[in-house]
Amino acid sequence: MRIAMVSEHASPLAVIGGVDAGGQNVHVAALSSALARRGHQVTVYTRRDDPGLPARMQLFPGVEVVHADAGPATHVPKDELLPYMGNLADRLSDDWDRTTPDIVHSHFWMSGVAALEAARRPGRPRALPVTHTFHALGIVKRRHQGAQDTSPAEREWLEPKVGREADAVIATCSDEAFELKALGVPSTHISVVPCGVDLERFKPTGPVERKGRTRRIVSVGRLVPRKGVDLVITALAQLAAEGMTDVELVVIGGSGGSESLLDDPEARRLLALADRLGLSDRVHVRGQVAQSELPAVLRSADAVVCTPWYEPFGIVPLEAMACGIPVVASSVGGLIDTVVHGVTGVHVPPRDPGAISGALAALLIDHARIRRLGAAGRDRVESRFSWDQVAADTERAYRKTIRRAAGGASLRAAKGASR
Ligand code: UDP
Repeated sequence: MRIAMVSEHASPLAVIGGVDAGGQNVHVAALSSALARRGHQVTVYTRRDDPGLPARMQLFPGVEVVHADAGPATHVPKDELLPYMGNLADRLSDDWDRTTPDIVHSHFWMSGVAALEAARRPGRPRALPVTHTFHALGIVKRRHQGAQDTSPAEREWLEPKVGREADAVIATCSDEAFELKALGVPSTHISVVPCGVDLERFKPTGPVERKGRTRRIVSVGRLVPRKGVDLVITALAQLAAEGMTDVELVVIGGSGGSESLLDDPEARRLLALADRLGLSDRVHVRGQVAQSELPAVLRSADAVVCTPWYEPFGIVPLEAMACGIPVVASSVGGLIDTVVHGVTGVHVPPRDPGAISGALAALLIDHARIRRLGAAGRDRVESRFSWDQVAADTERAYRKTIRRAAGGASLRAAKGASR
C-alpha cells in the first residue's frame, strides 16, 4: 500500500520531549517504520519549521518525510497553526496529484482538517480514503484545563467535524472511543488500536544508572502542569513525613523552547515546590533527555510514576513496563487500558497525592512485588504493544477503510447514474 501520513506539527524527526513534541512524534515515526517493514511505502507530511530542512528525505527504508511549506519556516506553537492548514492542504493535494496514496492517515485534529480538504478536493478523480487518529481531544482538554486551554476556538467544532467526516477513526484507547461516540462519530467507523513501544530499545537488560538513594522513583514526560509531577513531589513529602526518607525522585522532560531549565516556568515551579517541602536534595529535575538514554534511567527505578490529570494514551508507562518496572498510574485515559491494577502496576485516582504516597509506601518496601509487577509488565507489552503488532492492526483498519470508502464511492456513482 502507498500510505500518506499527515502530522502537521509533530515531525518524526523532531527532538522529542519539548512542549509541542512528545508521543505523537514517537508514534508517527515508529508506526511508519513498522508499516514499511511490512512492505508498505510511507510518506510522512509535516510542516517545515526550519529553512534548512530538505524538501524530501528518507527517514528509514520505505519511509520518506516531506517538509511541506505551510506558514513560517520556524517553530510555531501548535495552537497557532490553524491558519496555515489551507496551505498544507494545497501542498498535500499537489503531491497527491503526482503520486496518489491508497490511504491517508492524519494525526491530530488540524492534520485532519488539511487531509480531508486535500483528499476531497473538487476535481480529484476520486476522493481518497482518510483514517484519522486524534492523539488528544479538545473537549477533554477543555474539561480539565478550562480557561488555561490555549487551543483556538475553532477546535470546538472543527475537531468533531473531522471525526464525523473521516472514513474511519483510530482511537488509541477505549476511553477515547467513548468520547468519540459522544462527539457523534459513528461507532462503526471507530477502531481501537493502541500506541506501541520499541521493545528492543526498552528492555529489562542493559545499562542501569546508579541511584543516589536507597529507593528511586522516576517521572518522564513533557514538563506541563497536567502531567501532575507536582503531585508526585507532594507524595514524596508525605512519604518522608511517614518515615520513608531515603527515596529520590528523578524528573525527566522539558517544556521545549528554553535554553536552560531555569527559564522553564514549570521546572521553576517544581523546584520551588521541592524546596518548600524540604526535598531539594531528593528531587532531581533533569530536563529533556534523549530517548536513547532513557532506558538506563527507567531501569534504575523501583517504580515509574505517571499521574497526569488526564492522558490521551501515554507511551511512558509502556516504556517503563517494557523495562520491567512497575508503574503507579492515575486511572485516566489510555493508562486504564495499559497498566493493569495489581498486575503490572497500581492505579490511583487522578489528582490525589495521598493515594500516590499510599501506593508507593506499600510498593517500595516489597521487593518481591516490585519484581513480580515488573515482569508482568514486560510480558504484557511483548504480547500486545510491539510496534509490529500495532502496525498489523493498523493495516487491518486501513484495509477496512479502503473497502468501505470504495463501497461508498460505487454507491454514490450508482445513485448518480440512476438520476
Ligand atoms: N521523552 C523523551 N525524552 C524526554 C521526555 C519524553 O524521549 O525528555 C519521550 C518519552 O520516552 C515518550 C514520549 O517522549 O516516548 C512522551 O510520550 P507520552 O505519550 O508519554 O506523552 P506526550 O508527550 O505525548 O503527552
